Amino acid sequence: HAKENGRNSYQFFTDELNNRAHTRLALENELRRALTRREFSLHFQPQFDLAHRRLIGAEALLRWNHPERGMIPPDQFIPIAEETGLIIPLGAWILHESCRIAQGWRDEGLPDLCIAVNISALQVRRGQLDSTVVEALGESGLPARLLELEVTESALMTHQAHVSATLDAIHALGVKLAIDDFGTGYSSLAYLKRFKLDKLKIDRSFIRDLPDDAEDAHLTRAIVGIAHHLGMTAVAEGVETKAQEAFLSELGCDLAQGYLYARPLPADAFRQMQIDLGLQAASKPAASTA
Ligand code: C2E
Ligand code: MG
Ligand code: MG
Ligand code: MG
Repeated sequence: HAKENGRNSYQFFTDELNNRAHTRLALENELRRALTRREFSLHFQPQFDLAHRRLIGAEALLRWNHPERGMIPPDQFIPIAEETGLIIPLGAWILHESCRIAQGWRDEGLPDLCIAVNISALQVRRGQLDSTVVEALGESGLPARLLELEVTESALMTHQAHVSATLDAIHALGVKLAIDDFGTGYSSLAYLKRFKLDKLKIDRSFIRDLPDDAEDAHLTRAIVGIAHHLGMTAVAEGVETKAQEAFLSELGCDLAQGYLYARPLPADAFRQMQIDLGLQAASKPAASTA
């Protein structure tokens, strides 16, 4: 029996592996086709200025609406897109689409918003990111000052001259650079001197247990201090409660983003939210739509 069981569990194990490898291979192939089949879309999550209680920007977040599997979250397919190199054409599409939508809102007379676009490390290392950015701005007509690129610490943890030259060229256009998920990567902080960064996004994991967790409170205060001492804007990610917001305001954190204000919304719903906010009295605080 033992032998049989052993064989069965081995069988089970390899089936499981085969299944996973199969799913992965299927996803890879489907991912390649998804761009031409227009299965990707962008959702937008608002960013608010805490002191002035004003909508100032939006982060573009990629969504894959798979014909059979439904909505696949980015954490499940961005890594595959990176490993296969597909992130280069996909990333170019994301930049073009973000700029096009943002300029569309301006054409309708909506107030200027800064659009933050997530950039993979591979795009910074491999692609002609600077020319892609120039093309996306040129084609859409969006002013460079209204585009922001979010890069992670790992993208900056390199001594490749190509990376700093690329990011410097993008910054020289007037495009803003933000560091995403700050405090979670293997970072030396030296990159804060090496690169011209405009914003620092405090990772959600530091915000989650505010204001009660004393360590997180100290870390968040210190991170806001680092940002301000280096002339950067501090952004809190994943703000879900009024108590977190109050604490961050007290610290002087500049911007906040999270479910307290809104979940990432499809472009049309985001546009409607802008219109609704515009119709409210300017002094009224942003309503929670979460
Ligand atoms: P990220 O750039 O740090 O984006 C923030 C993530 O936190 C988003 O997840 C957002 O929906 C989620 N979030 C926002 N507010 C809250 C909150 O209050 N509570 C909680 N629990 N979560 C909140 P999403 O959209 O699933 O994206 C996950 C990650 O996938 C992103 O993390 C980013 O690293 C990557 N990603 C998304 N879109 C793109 C893209 O266009 N290009 C690239 N390269 N990566 C992307
Ligand atoms: Mg981001
Ligand atoms: Mg983040
Ligand atoms: Mg993240």
